[in-house]
Amino acid sequence: MNIHAIIERLDKVRKNGNGYMACCPVHTEKTPSLSLTEKDGKILCHCFGCGADGIAVVEAIGLKPDVLFSEEMETEEGNDWILIENSLFDEEVINIAFHDMRRGDPICYSDYKLIRTSLARRQERYRRNMPVKHKMAIDLEGYRG
Ligand SMILES: [Zn+2]
Repeated sequence: MNIHAIIERLDKVRKNGNGYMACCPVHTEKTPSLSLTEKDGKILCHCFGCGADGIAVVEAIGLKPDVLFSEEMETEEGNDWILIENSLFDEEVINIAFHDMRRGDPICYSDYKLIRTSLARRQERYRRNMPVKHKMAIDLEGYRG
């Protein structure tokens, strides 16, 4: 249902095939040129007017990039260890993924599955108020610009 969190903040939303068209929040426009589609648990956004991608769009409407991915996790009781043990790894995966997306680099399907799992675990940690184990030691933005 994440796509609804996005479109409810956009203007002139109309259904278009499997997805929606709406006015782009990144550039000012009167005729919708932003396309949104949900595919394999990921929300794909593209503005035909300014070329904005999903991250630019969600940031323009005050949402986090996480909203572009479905939160799906088969949560079992007793997986705290998995959540704690992977916390640093997950943050790193997410940082790299968002950095690549921002640069427009394509994400392959196996990476995408990894990102989705990391995001799901992060959501679950937030939900349970579990902190990330360590702070990021390396500023990836600085290294990979
Ligand atoms: Zn635009």
